[in-house]
Amino acid sequence: MEKLKSVIEQLEQGKVVSNTENVKVYEKSFKDHEHVRLLMVKTNGNRYIVTVGEGTLFDELQGKNIGNGKVCPLSHENRLVLNRYFDFTVPRAFGTKIATMGLGDRLGIASPGHIETIKGHNVKPILAQQSIRELSLTNRTMNDMLDAAAFAVFQEGYEGGYGADGDHIKQESDIKIALELGISMLTLDCSDYIPTGIDAKSLEEVRTEFEKLPQDIQEYYNERYLNQIFDVNILSLSFDEETLIKYVLEYNEALNYMVYVYNEYISKLDRNFDFEISIDETETVTSPMAHFFVANELTSKGVKVNSLAPRFCGEFQKGIDYIGDVEQFERELSEHALIAEYFGYKLSIHSGSDKFKVFPIIAKYTKGVVHVKTAGTNWLEAVRVIAKTNPDLYRRMHAFALENLDVALKYYHITPDMDTIVPLDSVSDDNLADYMNNDAARQVLHVTYGLILTAKDENGAPLFKDEFFKTLDDNEDEYTRALVLHIGKHLETLGL
Ligand SMILES: [Zn+2]
Repeated sequence: MEKLKSVIEQLEQGKVVSNTENVKVYEKSFKDHEHVRLLMVKTNGNRYIVTVGEGTLFDELQGKNIGNGKVCPLSHENRLVLNRYFDFTVPRAFGTKIATMGLGDRLGIASPGHIETIKGHNVKPILAQQSIRELSLTNRTMNDMLDAAAFAVFQEGYEGGYGADGDHIKQESDIKIALELGISMLTLDCSDYIPTGIDAKSLEEVRTEFEKLPQDIQEYYNERYLNQIFDVNILSLSFDEETLIKYVLEYNEALNYMVYVYNEYISKLDRNFDFEISIDETETVTSPMAHFFVANELTSKGVKVNSLAPRFCGEFQKGIDYIGDVEQFERELSEHALIAEYFGYKLSIHSGSDKFKVFPIIAKYTKGVVHVKTAGTNWLEAVRVIAKTNPDLYRRMHAFALENLDVALKYYHITPDMDTIVPLDSVSDDNLADYMNNDAARQVLHVTYGLILTAKDENGAPLFKDEFFKTLDDNEDEYTRALVLHIGKHLETLGL
């Protein structure tokens, strides 16, 4: 703390000192707000906001008094203070006219790199984006995620606005919590309400099921869809009995839930909000016709969505490129894009990390109005930095990931070709980072992140976590460079 004395003295005179041996100064964070000056610094691996001056902002920030100033930890309470005085630190919605990129940050340290990456691109960042699954696998809370994003924009002096997505939320109780904590976007995961296997059934089988629905529901759908032609931009869509029945059986329950959540929560909010519907985390592929059916029902029931995530054909596995028929993907994506445009929302692409084969197609048909989610790939970039800067730690993590892969496969669907992963003892330290160019190794390390970060030794101490974070913190500029390169490649191929 004594090391910060001179920072405080200089700050009183309105000067921002440069880095010293013991103190890293985040110059872009400097703020002079109604007689109170603030500056973010790091010493001994901990970040603080140093503040001097007079006024309520100074008084409200909690910290340790040193000289005439105060040294404030990056606590949840202090984040709330920043939110009250600096609007740009509060998550905001972006509506349907501009591209957004979900940049999930599992570690709580990737956002500065993400902010650097989006500069000069036609896209707004959703810096906070974690699913309940990701949060629980890493022992983090939604507040941890929101705090990290707010402090990152403050650190970088980034005032362009950012979003916070309660990603893949299913339960009503989680929706309530997330909304109260101040998210600006909700991705409602409806997969629990979408039965699988309907598509494979015969007309007779599905007809029997359909006839079990209440009479008025059957009539409602029949009247609205049979013997009609729907003109959607240049598409002309019509439903036969079998198609309609299958969509009803697949989506009727999910639609009820979407409408319920919208009416009960989203429509009652007194702030701008991005509401996303996700029907992607299911085996039931969303054909363009099914997409239209869902969107048409939502619209007729007054539900305003900002984005919708279909389950596309082929496979969007974590951390690797698209698997599947690219031509079919292009055909269907062009129709999905037309449907989204017709109903006035953005198409949302989930598991968008590393899908370079299809990014140009997405760019072509969504014309810069799209939401793309990434998350795991920035963890892999962190692993790449570990491989380069702390080979010993990388080796232990790699071995652990291979040993514990079976556990991770309960949560994630991947199909790595394990034979392509070169044995660890045949790779020199200098070449360890090459594992991050191998699809199978990427996937193994991708899905085991939660296990790696929460693993404990026999005494209950973290096996990797502390060393992992310290290594990245010591090499934060390297991590930023890796993200700018890798996420930047995403933005470029997406034409954003
Ligand atoms: Zn998804």
